[in-house]
Amino acid sequence: MLPVIYSDEFLLHDTGSFHPERPQRLSAIVKALKSVPFADQLKWQLPTPVTERDVMPWLQKVHSEEHIERVELIAKRGGGNLDGDTPVSAYSYDVALLAVNAWLDGVDRVLATEDPAFVLARPPGHHAERDRGMGFCLFSNAAIAACYALSQPEVKRVAILDWDVHHGNGTQNFVEHHPKLAYCSLHQSPCYPGTGYADERGEYKNVLNIPLPPGSAVGEYQKAFESEVLPFLSIYRPDLLIVSAGYDANADDPLARIDLQPHDFGLFTEYCLKLTRRIVFGLEGGYDLAALAESVVATIEQCLV
Ligand SMILES: [Zn+2]
Repeated sequence: MLPVIYSDEFLLHDTGSFHPERPQRLSAIVKALKSVPFADQLKWQLPTPVTERDVMPWLQKVHSEEHIERVELIAKRGGGNLDGDTPVSAYSYDVALLAVNAWLDGVDRVLATEDPAFVLARPPGHHAERDRGMGFCLFSNAAIAACYALSQPEVKRVAILDWDVHHGNGTQNFVEHHPKLAYCSLHQSPCYPGTGYADERGEYKNVLNIPLPPGSAVGEYQKAFESEVLPFLSIYRPDLLIVSAGYDANADDPLARIDLQPHDFGLFTEYCLKLTRRIVFGLEGGYDLAALAESVVATIEQCLV
């Protein structure tokens, strides 16, 4: 069985009529997962309500009070924007807190079962920095989940692998100063947000950026995984691996120009599973509904092999 942590409440983060990061993304994935041959091997789980587990102590490890209060205030006023492409609707603050809890639930499940879990939540998180949301992201879900994992006695080191097509500037900004965390990103360059250079290695040599030119396909990714990503993660020996699982590196994705196919994410998942089965996959980007849904299916299917 593979836990899929999901709530219909994630659909309430309203980004407007024409925004690529839209509720239909999750609906398309849910629909696909309900009709796959291995549907009976999925264990759908609701995230822990914020009334049962307060996410604030974990949120505050990664974000400033000012940023958290700003998001809350904009939502309370009925909505607004954090930047040109990062809307906050009336429900967005509550939904974003529930999304953080879903990622924390993913950590709990994986540590309890020693098997992967998939967190099907939105908004995404890897662009959110300590003091600001940006790039569709309100709170830095992966970094917060990593902090939460480190509070568990059996967890000494956590690695975050980010295969979203965009560099996770927010995640790196947090991880690069933290000796118990590592961050590895494969991303298109040049591309939004313009960060993630290969010579940035982190204060503790705990960052690995692999910028890839537009037009790169699975061959370039395989080479990068085998020669850089897997050695980096093997040496680091994480007690938990968190995958910032964005699927906007698909050839059909409208926001970037990488040429992956949905089944390629099954291959990347296979690489990860060779390192450890303690993997929390959490959804980041991915904006072509069909490619997104197929890619999540490929990721989960590989975990069930
Ligand atoms: Zn992205």
